[in-house]
Amino acid sequence: MNNAQSHLWFHRAEAVILGGVNSPSRAYKSVGGGTPIVMARGEGSKFYDVDGNTYIDYLAAYGPSILGHAHPHITKAIVRAAGDGILYGTPTTWEVEFAEQLRAGIPDLERLRFVNSGTEAVMTTLRVARAYTGRTRVIKFEGCYHGHSDAMLVAAGSGPSSMGIPDSAGVTRATAEEVITVPFNDLSSLEQALAKYGDDVAAVLVEPIVGNFGMVAPAEETYLKGVIDLAHEKGALCIFDEVITAFRFHYGSAAQIYDVHPDLYALGKIIGGGLPIGAYGGRQDIMEQVAPLGPAYQAGTMAGNPLSMRTGIACLEVLRQPGTYDAMAKKAAHLVQAIEASAKTQGVAITVNRIGGAFTVYFGEHKVTNYQEAVATDSAMFARFFHLLAANGILIAPSKYEAWFVSAVHSDEDIERTCAAVERVFQELGT
Ligand code: PLP
Repeated sequence: MNNAQSHLWFHRAEAVILGGVNSPSRAYKSVGGGTPIVMARGEGSKFYDVDGNTYIDYLAAYGPSILGHAHPHITKAIVRAAGDGILYGTPTTWEVEFAEQLRAGIPDLERLRFVNSGTEAVMTTLRVARAYTGRTRVIKFEGCYHGHSDAMLVAAGSGPSSMGIPDSAGVTRATAEEVITVPFNDLSSLEQALAKYGDDVAAVLVEPIVGNFGMVAPAEETYLKGVIDLAHEKGALCIFDEVITAFRFHYGSAAQIYDVHPDLYALGKIIGGGLPIGAYGGRQDIMEQVAPLGPAYQAGTMAGNPLSMRTGIACLEVLRQPGTYDAMAKKAAHLVQAIEASAKTQGVAITVNRIGGAFTVYFGEHKVTNYQEAVATDSAMFARFFHLLAANGILIAPSKYEAWFVSAVHSDEDIERTCAAVERVFQELGT
């Protein structure tokens, strides 16, 4: 595969954009280096790079692109929105309709607010929880990633852990001390942390199905209920970070899958249909802490902008169509079967975690249920896997801590082509 133009463009990028990328996870540091592929265009399930190479896209822009690229319904919404003027700084009908639709999908969102990113959404839920409880500390889970606000870069996962710098420089010790980190899927550690710090814990924050040390579901059906109950016993709130999970596995939240009700939610990614977005919300009495009703401040020039609202509405309209989620899950299951079969044939040890249309391939024999188990998987094998897949026209995220996302527009032919590519890749890995 010729990547000459990608090299040239990335070289130019490095001379002007810090590190050549606008988000560190796009660099190839955690897959042993290499030049990131520079994309020129996307259509449906595919990307086309600046050298004219084609890739089947399982990166999905780290989650949002559940309808693939240039989906006609999304494009139509964007064009119409642009024709009506893209930013007003006033209330609009679309933000009301979109909020109503989100609440119809996730009834726990008694009141909500739109922001511009998942980072902002999570950051604000913490402020609201502190305002409501009058407490300071937050308990989060090892390896979960909640955006790049200061408090959330304490023992964070995803990008930061890929690069081996879990604690970011520039985060003050005082901030770090307010955040307690416990292992996922281990209620007794949470119980111990709450026993020690409980009186000052404002919130327990969790990705209900983790997407940031690969896809990891609760090991026990009752785990999330346990997390919420333990938080409540100590007077703390429970916040679900559903930036990856909301509208990912079905038309609604991960909380609904486990039949639980956190106090607050942070949302993002899919709900924007590919445009910048975040949202947070939950119990009305808690949300009433937020200005203009309450003393906790949160604002945004771009918050609720008509473009993001109208693409969000368009995205939900497509996702509501019957069978959408079943089809994604079936295709992902088929792909995972093929990956497991190829690995077995070649004697390569892998373990796969799949939830619906999203899955992670770890190189190692053992099941992955928490961050340390994900860390222990083979990074060098993953790096080879990633580069070989790319050379065979399959693009996934350049990190062993991310997921493959099957979208609503991957065709059966895409899946079969991917299975064939995977077979070739494992032939090389096995030798
Ligand atoms: N929360 C989770 C679970 C995420 O995966 C991410 C991003 O990957 C964020 C929050 C931050 O979202 P954003 O990148 O939109 O700021």
